Amino acid sequence: MIEITDIHKRYGSVEAVRGVSFAVGPGEIVGLLGPNGAGKTTILKILTGYHYPDAGSARIAGENVTERPRHVKSHLGYLPENAPLYGELTVAEYLRFLAEARGVPREAITARCSDAAVACGVTEVLHRRIATLSKGYRQRTGLAQAMLHDPDILILDEPTSGLDPNQIVEMRRLIRSLGQEKTVILSSHILQEVEAVCDRVLILHQGRIAAAGTAEQISVEVAGGGRWRITLIVPGSTEETVPTLFSSLPGCTAVEEVRREPLGGRTRVSAEVALGDSGGQDPGEVIFDWACHQGYKLVEAAPVQRRLEELFTRLTGEAP
Ligand code: ATP
Repeated sequence: MIEITDIHKRYGSVEAVRGVSFAVGPGEIVGLLGPNGAGKTTILKILTGYHYPDAGSARIAGENVTERPRHVKSHLGYLPENAPLYGELTVAEYLRFLAEARGVPREAITARCSDAAVACGVTEVLHRRIATLSKGYRQRTGLAQAMLHDPDILILDEPTSGLDPNQIVEMRRLIRSLGQEKTVILSSHILQEVEAVCDRVLILHQGRIAAAGTAEQISVEVAGGGRWRITLIVPGSTEETVPTLFSSLPGCTAVEEVRREPLGGRTRVSAEVALGDSGGQDPGEVIFDWACHQGYKLVEAAPVQRRLEELFTRLTGEAP
């Protein structure tokens, strides 16, 4: 659906995008995550045809964005970082005006405006002037304009920027519901946002992709095999049992946050364990087999999700 191959873009001496490639399939919600200046907006502008890449190609629905811009734009709805709104118009007038400008057939305009207004939750403000709306409603109106021609792809540049916490929650809910019907690519520098809204995350740093995948996959990639919270009941109560306990677990590279609780003649031991490469075997199975073999009672084995904040710092060497 969206295919970007080795895109480069330079503004004078600034290399904004340096060899970025990725693909987004139908129905996916993908987040471009990165700090200010990482190149997110530039990539979105290339996808929407606002900028041409210096090298590489961007294809939407099989067509090159620079070769068939009109055709490609018919598939896209774009909400730029600062939505272009006309404050003196009412929401209804604005949507109607843009539907006409986009070439929506005259007989379909009323229905399209109404559908977009319902989908974006602006029906109750349709007759208010845009200048008098709260930032949250202005952003919803911006989203409604992006949907007027019923595109199958939505490109949203920092859609929650400047919203208050309630409006952010509402906007995220809205994006998730739109994502059930449409392919969505959004940019954000809010880590929780992409984690909460997106199926997949591309972490951008200085114009390059530093990591890609689900938050969980990235976590495993960065941590090298992943971390597991393991709780066992082991025989005996000696202090020295605990430090050496996990050394026989295949692939174990670190043991942290050990907790120990005596249970009569036995000990309940809980720890966060880093596992290296398990040779393609499910780590949960490795842990289970190991515990059985050692004669330990396995109470819990659950992968530990690293927060994206932590991953970002590890990947880029910068605080998020
Ligand atoms: P932000 O989160 O601040 O919006 P971003 O990740 O979207 O950042 P871009 O806006 O793509 O990043 O900018 C990438 C780099 O390109 C930055 O160094 C920026 O200053 C520079 N840049 C962007 N647009 C232009 C322009 N029109 N002319 C010159 N430099 C630009």
